[in-house]
Amino acid sequence: GASVVAFDVRAIIATAAGGPEVLQATDVPDPRPGPGEVLVRVAAAGVNFIDTYKRSGIYAMPFPHVVGAEGGGEVVAVGADVTTLAVGDRVAWASAPGSYAELVVVREDAALVVPADVSDEVAAALPLQGLTAHYLVASTFPVAAGQDVLLHAAAGGVGLLLTQLAAQRGARVIATVGTDEKERIARAAGAAEIIRYRELDDLTTELPARVRDLTAGRGVDVAYDSVGKDTFDASLASVARRGMLVLFGASSGPVPPVDPQRLNAAGSVFLTRPTLGDYIATRDELTWRSTELFDAVRAGTLDVRVGATYPLADAADAHRALEGRATTGKVLLLP
Ligand code: NDP
Repeated sequence: GASVVAFDVRAIIATAAGGPEVLQATDVPDPRPGPGEVLVRVAAAGVNFIDTYKRSGIYAMPFPHVVGAEGGGEVVAVGADVTTLAVGDRVAWASAPGSYAELVVVREDAALVVPADVSDEVAAALPLQGLTAHYLVASTFPVAAGQDVLLHAAAGGVGLLLTQLAAQRGARVIATVGTDEKERIARAAGAAEIIRYRELDDLTTELPARVRDLTAGRGVDVAYDSVGKDTFDASLASVARRGMLVLFGASSGPVPPVDPQRLNAAGSVFLTRPTLGDYIATRDELTWRSTELFDAVRAGTLDVRVGATYPLADAADAHRALEGRATTGKVLLLP
């Protein structure tokens, strides 16, 4: 058959399961769009915690693989049967494997058309964390005015967007953050109360005690927990009777198995462990969420903070910073 010609398409591969050092810049054969796919020149690739789980082997992945899932850029070729996109269109996406690259193939049904007045960086920064924050407050637990919400890592990528969206729905956001700078950023995003959780001697008892103080003993209507292992027990103990604990990440490590009886003892609490794919499973749902997000950005009501950008070749440094709790907002790679 035809030989594959290796153009100089720079990409970041994970060579094996491991730490950031397994990430290597390399040349890969230029990807070709198949039916229902477009080829995109990546303007910026989004860095997300899930990329680190896949790199480290927590999620089963083939090695080597080109890392990344999110980004923004310009369509440079269209495959067969593509009807809604053309060369030159600006698109963004949350789910295109191999996005840490100069060129990536994106499924037409995963591509979001970027409004002309939204920058490449914001377009690349918004999809994965924005869609996540949206489904968490609009669908998993529809946050309403007057409710109390606990969320962790409020100055992080998802955290900053979640804080803004929950506060805009009229909830009081009680947020945890790691540092002074993160406290300032989270307050500016709308967090009403801040808990500096790294300074607590015993997170599991002191954090719920603070939350109970702030809520007249009641606890929060919903706790959104992306930190996982270190905060799960504290989050569960902070939820009001018949409230909900939404465990959506494992930044500190996975939560061990939970005895359902603990939900009874916590006050008939609902526990869910959602994932983005189930909340953008139809094109209508993806379009609804992404349109609301881009509209909010254009109206100036949603601030997308790009906390750091790295050259594509320095992806390992970006992973070190994200896993080292050193980042705020979105981290982007620029090919
Ligand atoms: P963040 O920007 O939130 O970075 C992680 C933050 O978590 C850190 O900055 C740190 O903030 C906090 N943290 C607490 N403990 C640790 C620890 N031991 N190691 C590292 N960080 C820690 O990342 P993302 O916004 O990309 O992702 C946030 C979480 O949301 C991840 O767990 C991710 O997997 C999850 N997620 C889940 C989705 C879903 O659909 N289920 C979709 C998208 C993301 P601080 O210094 O303030 O403690």
